[in-house]
Amino acid sequence: MSSQPHIVLPWIVRRTRLPLLSLRCVDCPSRSATTGRGRFRINANGKLLDVWLLVRCVSCDRTSKLTVHERAPVRSLDPLMLDGYHANESELVAATLLDPLFARRNRFTLDWGGAWRLDTSPAWIDEDWPVQVEVVFSDPVPVRPERLISHGLGLSRNQVLRRIKCDVSLRRPTSTGFTFIVMRD
Ligand SMILES: [Zn+2]
Repeated sequence: MSSQPHIVLPWIVRRTRLPLLSLRCVDCPSRSATTGRGRFRINANGKLLDVWLLVRCVSCDRTSKLTVHERAPVRSLDPLMLDGYHANESELVAATLLDPLFARRNRFTLDWGGAWRLDTSPAWIDEDWPVQVEVVFSDPVPVRPERLISHGLGLSRNQVLRRIKCDVSLRRPTSTGFTFIVMRD
């Protein structure tokens, strides 16, 4: 590269709603479930607690319980978190749903289709080539950089391959920040 980028533009990937869950329904052929507004169920058994997150099949409405805590000693849980479960706090619902361990334990994957958006900066002036863009993720949405850049700049895949220099693989989905440089065509 002959010159350093003149300007650095911030892009932000944000969640617009909670993603759906790819989870097989036991009652119908559907493989899609939703947390809806988000509700926990708590069951106390002596000093042990079970906590579940309730999800609903998008097709037949059947409710399933996904395990958050299983026979956990009450004292092992943060009281603030426990209050959050009781109050169905939306932030706690989101944090639980997006926790990779929770997904693995309950054997579902997240379906991010239509659940996020990319906030880009306004276009730049022509003289300022090359341009550097810094992509930040405010939520862990897995996207292929190639697709994100193509969408954000309105470029074809070939143009992206020709004009973009990126510090991560363009093809491998990522949900952590990365930087790329756009060269003049
Ligand atoms: Zn169903």
